[in-house]
Amino acid sequence: MALKYDDSGRLHIETPLMAESLMDKQLLARTETESVFRPLPELNVIKLGGQSIIDRGAAVLLPILDEIVAARKTQQLVLLTGGGTRSRHAYAIALDLGMPTGVLAKLGSSISEQNALMVSVLLAPHSGVKIGQDDLVKLPSYLALGAIPVMHAMPPYGMWEVNAEHGRIPPHRTDVGAYLTAEVLGAKRCILVKDEAGLYTADPKKDPHAELIREIEVHDLMARDFNDLPVERSMLEALTRARSVKEVLLVNGRVPGDLTRALHGENPGTRIYTA
Ligand code: ADP
Ligand code: MG
Repeated sequence: MALKYDDSGRLHIETPLMAESLMDKQLLARTETESVFRPLPELNVIKLGGQSIIDRGAAVLLPILDEIVAARKTQQLVLLTGGGTRSRHAYAIALDLGMPTGVLAKLGSSISEQNALMVSVLLAPHSGVKIGQDDLVKLPSYLALGAIPVMHAMPPYGMWEVNAEHGRIPPHRTDVGAYLTAEVLGAKRCILVKDEAGLYTADPKKDPHAELIREIEVHDLMARDFNDLPVERSMLEALTRARSVKEVLLVNGRVPGDLTRALHGENPGTRIYTA
């Protein structure tokens, strides 16, 4: 960066964005690059659903943790946890009390952290370690030690959460939190472990005629405008702007081996990708 004196003799650093509002559309377009640096390109980011997996207790969670312990021997991974039914209960009380969305986001965050605590304690015999969001930059050290890092998946918008388009539930919850974690780390893949085979044309718990979709481009999925989805809409929007992680896999945690298959590059559920 060049140094230059102005007419008054003051010294300035001549930097490309100097004296810009950072709002000019052409200027913003010029900041685009072919690719961004990927800090952990071998990392698997795995989110365990709160309601769909962790709330189902030992019968569903423990076999998945066994698959994770086995996979950790050959693969880099970080586990993220959702919130689930306790989040929904807290949201319901907070809504009744008239709380703003940012307060609901804080509540959701502390509940997904409860799940990270329990999962990390269950994994303690296998070097499970609960980490906070500020510890993400220490992941390489945890991975080098052979640890299984566990972090809650609610992104840190907290009190600054933007209002939702409809209603007051925080729009950025643990699916988008998992995806954004994978994206910033330039991870190999992002896997969301839930309790159905994948994405259907409707909620399979309510519609027996719902059809499974094995692969779909994210803009196509958004255009289909399904009434209900197994992932947050904010995650789909984030995926449309992917720079590094261009797909998300939905995997059924109730089918033994499906998570392991996903970790080996197969698609045992649904692949949502960006073209
Ligand atoms: P998590 O526990 O990861 O937060 P959720 O319970 O929020 O997961 O979302 C998964 C649930 O979404 C599934 O169990 C399913 O019943 C429901 N669902 C709603 N719409 C769909 C759909 N179109 N396809 C698949 N599942 C759907
Ligand atoms: Mg959810």
